[in-house]
Amino acid sequence: MTGVEGKIIAITGASSGIGEAAAVELAARGAAVVLGARRADRLESLAGRIREAGGRAEVVEMDVARRADAEKLVDTAVERFGRLDVLVGNAGMARTSPVRDLDVDGWDAMIDVNVRGVLHGIAAALPVFAAQGRGHLVTTVSTSGLKIVPNQAVYAGTKNAVRTILEALRQESTDGTLRTTSISPGYVRTELVDDVEDPQIRAQMQQSMADFGIDPAAVARAIAFAIEQPDDVEIGDLTIRPTIQG
Ligand code: NDP
Repeated sequence: MTGVEGKIIAITGASSGIGEAAAVELAARGAAVVLGARRADRLESLAGRIREAGGRAEVVEMDVARRADAEKLVDTAVERFGRLDVLVGNAGMARTSPVRDLDVDGWDAMIDVNVRGVLHGIAAALPVFAAQGRGHLVTTVSTSGLKIVPNQAVYAGTKNAVRTILEALRQESTDGTLRTTSISPGYVRTELVDDVEDPQIRAQMQQSMADFGIDPAAVARAIAFAIEQPDDVEIGDLTIRPTIQG
């Protein structure tokens, strides 16, 4: 299969930011999208907009930290649309602070969502992909795992854990039935840092996003680019950042 049209695509973290933009972009290009996140009201409103524009969308209220919820997302795609072509493991959170602040609860939360959450998606999707003989895993990692900076130690660590897992999975899956893609965005204008606890770090990151963050639609187009390639072409790693980001 080439292109986006007709593909069945499940997206975690579809209630805002990059996931929401990806849902809009992919649905506009003719994919059926299955939208997962905890804020069901946001998902319902997004699904409504997609359907009004002539697209196909289903909503699954889910928490990626729960394995059963990831299975619910994948099962919904298969039950409603007959298969799953792509899982976009995009849900994520950032609790940035210096390591010395010992925000252990924040570390745990990031590990649960950014690492376990992606693994739960992989565990739910791989059996379906194996039965179909084809499938594509796309994840949203980060440039913070490429250029290491202060205050993002654990966040970057979770993103690099996912990058590593996907690369090993890629090497284990060279029979042509599985594609893996890690997208590394730089600053994107979203709600990601709104929950950062340290007010100074939060304000600084929000300011950077406002000053030079790119539109989430740009990352959505990068996700679509990886998905639209023919089955024998795998976009492995893709970095997309503001032109002026250092
Ligand atoms: P947002 O905060 O706008 O979106 C995060 C999404 O993840 C929301 O839809 C949220 O939905 C969902 N989410 C968070 N926790 C859970 C959970 N436990 N279960 C299910 N869904 C969850 O930020 P972005 O769009 O920026 O973030 C998307 C991804 O992009 C993240 O992985 C982030 O790390 C990554 N990224 C973002 C960058 C940026 O500058 N914005 C840069 C690099 C990477 P809900 O709260 O409804 O559950």
